[in-house]
Amino acid sequence: MIRLSPVSHICLGLALLTISIMFAADFIGLIPDQRQMIVASRKKFCESLTSQCAACAQEDDLAAIQATIQLIVERDEDILSAVIRSADGKILVEAGDHHKHWKSSAEDRSALDNIEVPIFKGSARWGTVEICFNEIGPKGILGFWAKPLIKLIFFTTLVGFAANMFFMKRRLRHLDPASVIPKRVKSALDTLTEGVVLLDQHGRIVMANSAFADGVNKPVASLLGRNPSEFNWTVPKSPHQAQPLPWIQALQEAKDQTAVPLALSTEAGGIRSFLVNAAPILDTKGVQRGVMATFSDVTQLEERSTRLQEMLHQLEESRSEIRSQSQKLQLLASTDPLTDCLNRRAFFEKCEVDFSTSRRYGYDISCIMVDIDKFKSVNDRHGHDVGDRVIQTVSNALKSCSRASDVICRYGGEEFCVLLPYTNIQEAAMTSERFRRNIESQNLSGISITASFGISSTVFGTTGVKELISQADKALFLAKNSGRNRVACWDEIPVDVGVS
Ligand code: GH3
Ligand code: MG
Ligand code: MG
Repeated sequence: MIRLSPVSHICLGLALLTISIMFAADFIGLIPDQRQMIVASRKKFCESLTSQCAACAQEDDLAAIQATIQLIVERDEDILSAVIRSADGKILVEAGDHHKHWKSSAEDRSALDNIEVPIFKGSARWGTVEICFNEIGPKGILGFWAKPLIKLIFFTTLVGFAANMFFMKRRLRHLDPASVIPKRVKSALDTLTEGVVLLDQHGRIVMANSAFADGVNKPVASLLGRNPSEFNWTVPKSPHQAQPLPWIQALQEAKDQTAVPLALSTEAGGIRSFLVNAAPILDTKGVQRGVMATFSDVTQLEERSTRLQEMLHQLEESRSEIRSQSQKLQLLASTDPLTDCLNRRAFFEKCEVDFSTSRRYGYDISCIMVDIDKFKSVNDRHGHDVGDRVIQTVSNALKSCSRASDVICRYGGEEFCVLLPYTNIQEAAMTSERFRRNIESQNLSGISITASFGISSTVFGTTGVKELISQADKALFLAKNSGRNRVACWDEIPVDVGVS
């Protein structure tokens, strides 16, 4: 929609008012009707001609009548033809092509164009004067435009509007809000990449620079007098959400509003992001006169930031995927797939750490070697799969009776090794006994499962992990030899027997 400046508005209003007044004047008859004036003058003319002809008729001076009507037809452009007709209808005198112009029937004749007036000689009718005039003005739409009133209105409207505009612009500059800002200030503001608008006390734009006009995709001139709140602003999710638009808030509270994020939905269906500052404008007496608002277009920045966020998110996802894959790999590399216990390599790494920590803090560390009894016969009698399930059962039994700090390893086929940090030999013996009883209590399809245990501890002066495990293994050998399903300790091995 075309928005008029206040001055144009006033001028247009004045022009319309003038038109209305002229129509009203015409309606009450103050403007004379041109047709009526012509008719009146024609009537007058005919009357004077008739009296002149009547005077000549008294003396039957047809030559004088002929000369008179010839003269008036030649001289008066408005008269096309004239004749004097006798009382019995004979043409006595003629000037101009009367036959052509005179309408033959009385109905066709217009009282304005074809006029006939009787001539009396004494009291008797001597004859008639017939005069053909030009038609009064064109008919229809052309006739309407030819009317002097219409011409006058047309002229007055155009010239009046132009003259009023000229006068108003010169004299009433202060009525145009756009003129509040000097041109050089506007030009300076137009060089800014940041959108700048000045609003009056009612929040209407009195100045907008071209960056703002570009931002909202409207011509500068169309913005004047509008309220920026009319545009399709949305407040992105933020603590500012419940608050009014920043320039309204600055007007209401007379306080600066800074870096308020706003999004503008464009007509093309896009979204532009702005950071808006709004500051109240005060006069010398401190009275608020309006607001200045600036709009920093951060659309590209936001888009880049969103893209960056997405990339970071993807990176984070792939990082956690890599982490989880590497954890899985690490688990695969360090655990035994059948029992989920540590494999030998991982076990030795862990044992080295725990052993040196215990030594540093002066704690005992113990080790238990476990071997399933007569396992070969389980395999032989029930098959390899059942043998595997027996191994899993024993592994679960060990796990369920151990502490979180204990380290369980599948040491060989049906052998397990358990390292017990911060555990002395007595506690290790008790733990082994608990293991033994738990394994013995397992029931796997009626198969009896037992295991033998050999224990050792740093209390016996062990210097390293390997030696500790070796002592436990020798104790296990003792347990096997002394009947199986029992716990034997390294210190039980007679020195002279010399287990190797
Ligand atoms: P004992 O220890 O009581 O002296 O008798 P044993 O029958 O258990 O003897 P040994 O320890 O020599 O037998 C171990 C058997 O365990 C030999 C091997 O076939 C079997 N074995 C080793 N690894 C696996 C495994 O992963 N699954 C199954 N089912 N059997 C295994
Ligand atoms: Mg074995
Ligand atoms: Mg065995």
